[in-house]
Amino acid sequence: MGLAIASRVILIPLAVLAAALLGGWLDGIAGAAIGASILLALALVRDSLALSRLLRWLKAPDVARVPEGTGAWAEVFYRASRQLRLWNGKLGYEEAKLRRFIEALQVSPNGVILLDEHNQIDWFNATAGQHFGLDAQRDVRQHAVHLIRNPEFVAYLQAQRFHEPLHMHRTGVQGALTLSVQVFPYGDMQKLLLSQDITQFERTEAMRRDFVANVSHEIKTPLTVLGGFIETLRDMPLDEAQRARVLDLMQSQSDRMRHLVEDLLALARLEGDPFPPAEQTIDMPGLLAQLKAEATALSGGKHRIELVAAGDLSVRGSQQELHSALSNLVSNAVRYTPEGGSIRLEWGLRSDDGAVPQAEFSVTDTGIGIAPEHIPRLTERFYRVDRGRSRSSGGTGLGLAIVKHVLLRHQAELLVHSVPGKGSRFVVRFPAARLVVPEAANLLPAESHAA
Ligand code: ADP
Repeated sequence: MGLAIASRVILIPLAVLAAALLGGWLDGIAGAAIGASILLALALVRDSLALSRLLRWLKAPDVARVPEGTGAWAEVFYRASRQLRLWNGKLGYEEAKLRRFIEALQVSPNGVILLDEHNQIDWFNATAGQHFGLDAQRDVRQHAVHLIRNPEFVAYLQAQRFHEPLHMHRTGVQGALTLSVQVFPYGDMQKLLLSQDITQFERTEAMRRDFVANVSHEIKTPLTVLGGFIETLRDMPLDEAQRARVLDLMQSQSDRMRHLVEDLLALARLEGDPFPPAEQTIDMPGLLAQLKAEATALSGGKHRIELVAAGDLSVRGSQQELHSALSNLVSNAVRYTPEGGSIRLEWGLRSDDGAVPQAEFSVTDTGIGIAPEHIPRLTERFYRVDRGRSRSSGGTGLGLAIVKHVLLRHQAELLVHSVPGKGSRFVVRFPAARLVVPEAANLLPAESHAA
């Protein structure tokens, strides 16, 4: 194609010369001038037409409709269209890269907002939209502090103390949120704002702090009492009976601490173990007899204790974990039922309105009962309705938390029905998938034993 330019440089002067010679031969000097002028004029017209085609095409360049030309103009059009194709290719590649980059930012669990030098929003991802209630159509190019009006955020942006994150509270579509927000300046006074939802983290942190405070308090109390008794033993002359009494009290405080540590360890094991419990078919008759014997021993003859159990019905799970959970329910019934009350343990199949049968263990007592507002919180660690009563009856405040975790690991659920002053019924329902049902299983209780 370089040839086209070369030929143009050589051929046009040659053609003009030839036209002048021909004109001169025909009509002397005037003929030469006319011949050369005509040829130059023709070349000029051809160039002007090609130039106007080029200009028109450049207004909306389209590789599919490149203007046609001859000679050097063919080369000009060819080169322009090739350049355009190259640019288009590069542009497409860059656009695809940008699209992938934006897609990656969109799926980020963190909010991302790009601010210009005036703190106007240039772009934000969907997560930032949720965190700050922003609308992509409405809020781009708006000033950030007009849309995120929290005073602490406005102050943070103004003070430009961006080396540390800001924790701020907002009310989002899904309720109260705690956000950690940090700004990173870049480029020419632009800013990258990152937001992270730390609501759950903050909740867990608060629970952890409460838990440590509770454990410390629970351990401190018996330790203080024990310390007092040690001083008494060391400093005061006691007769044999007084000494024995003090030692008994010391024993009960150390038992209390041991129970607390045992429950804490049990809970830590249950919470920390990601695996489902080792499965076996539970020896239900054995477990029920053990629960009843424990209740009888704890009651010391102060309650009427009854066991109503359905035949050979059993479930699959961990014998040791289920014993720990069910015995907590049974011991609570004894501890929260005044002398003379009765406690009934029941085990059987339940099928409501033709639904798939479920195995159910329940403990019903005629004890002090629980007011409805406490029921949803009973399985929280250290939650007690009456702290004094729980402690005096040897409670650690962790029993129902252990029950909750064991049941979760067995896909079972805990239902609590209670009437203050009348009594409570704690029900454990196992899913049908855990049942081991003998051929002859029925929905009626098979045996009933009273103590
Ligand atoms: P605790 O060691 O205090 O008994 P739990 O976690 O076993 O702890 O129970 C939490 C609270 O639930 C108890 O402190 C008590 O107030 C209440 N509660 C549990 N079982 C019964 C029940 N059968 N009757 C009345 N209140 C109960």
